Amino acid sequence: MERKVGFFKSVQFKLIIIYVLLILIAMQIIGVYFTRQLEDQLVSNHFEMVDERVNLLVYNLAQELVKTGEERSTLSSDINVLLSEIFGIENAEVQVIDKNGIVLSTSNVTNRHFVGQQSAEVRVKRALIGTDYEDVLRDPKTGHLLRVMAVPIKANDETIGAVYIEASMEEIYEQLQQINNIFASGTFIALAITVVLIILLARTITGPIVDMRRQALRMGHGDFSRQVTVYSTDEIGQLAKSFNELTFKLHDATVTRDREQKKLSSVLTHMTDGVIATDETGQIILMNKRAEELLGVTSSQVMRAFLPDVLGLSDTTTIDDLYEQTDSMILDFSSDVNEFLLEANFTIIQEEDGPINGLIAVLHDVTEQEKIETDRREFVANVSHELRTPLTTMKSYLEALEDGAIRDEELAPRFLSVTQNETERMIRLVNDLLQLSKLDSRDYRLTFNWVDFRQFLNDVIDRFEMVAQDKNIVITRQITEHPTYVDIDRDKLTQVLDNIISNAMKYSPEGGNITVTLLHQGHNVRVSISDEGMGIPRESQSKIFDRFYRVDKARARSVGGTGLGLAIAKEMVHAHGGEIWVESEDGQGTTIYFTLPYSTFRGGEA
Ligand code: ADP
Repeated sequence: MERKVGFFKSVQFKLIIIYVLLILIAMQIIGVYFTRQLEDQLVSNHFEMVDERVNLLVYNLAQELVKTGEERSTLSSDINVLLSEIFGIENAEVQVIDKNGIVLSTSNVTNRHFVGQQSAEVRVKRALIGTDYEDVLRDPKTGHLLRVMAVPIKANDETIGAVYIEASMEEIYEQLQQINNIFASGTFIALAITVVLIILLARTITGPIVDMRRQALRMGHGDFSRQVTVYSTDEIGQLAKSFNELTFKLHDATVTRDREQKKLSSVLTHMTDGVIATDETGQIILMNKRAEELLGVTSSQVMRAFLPDVLGLSDTTTIDDLYEQTDSMILDFSSDVNEFLLEANFTIIQEEDGPINGLIAVLHDVTEQEKIETDRREFVANVSHELRTPLTTMKSYLEALEDGAIRDEELAPRFLSVTQNETERMIRLVNDLLQLSKLDSRDYRLTFNWVDFRQFLNDVIDRFEMVAQDKNIVITRQITEHPTYVDIDRDKLTQVLDNIISNAMKYSPEGGNITVTLLHQGHNVRVSISDEGMGIPRESQSKIFDRFYRVDKARARSVGGTGLGLAIAKEMVHAHGGEIWVESEDGQGTTIYFTLPYSTFRGGEA
């Protein structure tokens, strides 16, 4: 908001006040000094003038008063002539008094009645004794200043009369008053001119400043488009120039900052990790999209919320703990159904040696990673365990042979055959593992061929007929009448069928039935192998395709199982684009189904 500077707070007003005060003080000092000097001068001039006349008058009067006889008859008129000639000063009254104190003449016409009377003035009496008197008094009637003198007239060292003078000094003070008036009006005019000049002058100073202020306010609102006009090369001009440079640099910095901010926000948005930033108190001030997804919240919900609360750590961890957390931390957001693990890394925001300004938390979904890690550990444990069993068995049999059983004609062949079986089992296990590792590797390729699937299936079952007869097992074939050609890797599917059918044989009782079915189902061909064996408990059904999973470990091992057969079968069926699943009732037999995409079916030709 642009605030107006009041006139009484403006620089203009301050300049005016300063100049007015300066002029007033200067005029005052000059005025006082000048009038005092002038007054002194005028008063001393007046005194001199009066003194001169009085001296002249006293001298002349002395001449007149010593006359005698006939000459004396014209005395009164002679004195009058003297008074008017010598003492024609305005506002002054002169009385001439003879040695007896009788007033002989006065220059003031209105006081003529005093002539011939005895003077009552004490000062006159003292003058007649021969003492001069001189003083400046204030006239009680008019209030004017009067110079009062009583001067004795002497002849031959004898006082023969006196002159009494009252000279008004009012004229001097009137003159002074006039001069003062002129001085005051001069001061006033000077002040008026100065104020006008200052107003104009101040504009040239404050104009650019006001301009810069306006520009600064605009910059505050992000408008850098305008420049301040530089009027002069003086300090203010330099200031305006620097201000323009500053505007330019600030604009540049703002643009760079905006660009950086955009970059940062784009990086944050497209990051695969979640990022959360807090202020120094641990309240969330920023959160990217990924963090919202990972935590299942929206930014607006958790803005200004406490980070440990949002991460579900509030029971055990304070924000200060997080400041010190240098290692990554695993946060478990798993529910009963889904596993969900996040790895959190914390970095404090801190300027060099300054206080902590906030915290950045980077969240990373490690559910899959953790699962792979657990699977791997489990796998290694399983493999070691699977290999250790036959190895320990072989070791104990070999030790027995070494201890002498080798010479026992009955035991030796049996022991050797056990070690041979265990070796075969290990070979099978290692082969299966190799198979799986090949299937896991990315560059694994299947070699597809068009195969008459009915023929293929019959061939596989034929190979089992001999063993089945030994176990008194009947294999029933329910194979579709329709010609069925499928694009498959022959070897791999042979292995799938081998695994499933051999399981059916292994887990079937003596004299059981095994049914192999082939039919067309929608866009697939579906193969199923059913037996009448002990079945698979419901809780185990989802697991039998996992690696090393066996329902009854001891039993499975006794029939030579590795726990990898169905896992391999699953991988291979999936590699063909099909599905595999199990249906089983505990104690009532098992059916393993698998499908192969029918889209590869080529019709009845060939
Ligand atoms: P194995 O080599 O031990 O047979 P598989 O992966 O082939 O390993 O089978 C996994 C487990 O599934 C077996 O150990 C067994 O417990 C169970 N199983 C598989 N097929 C059958 C079946 N036809 N009848 C009963 N149980 C079966």
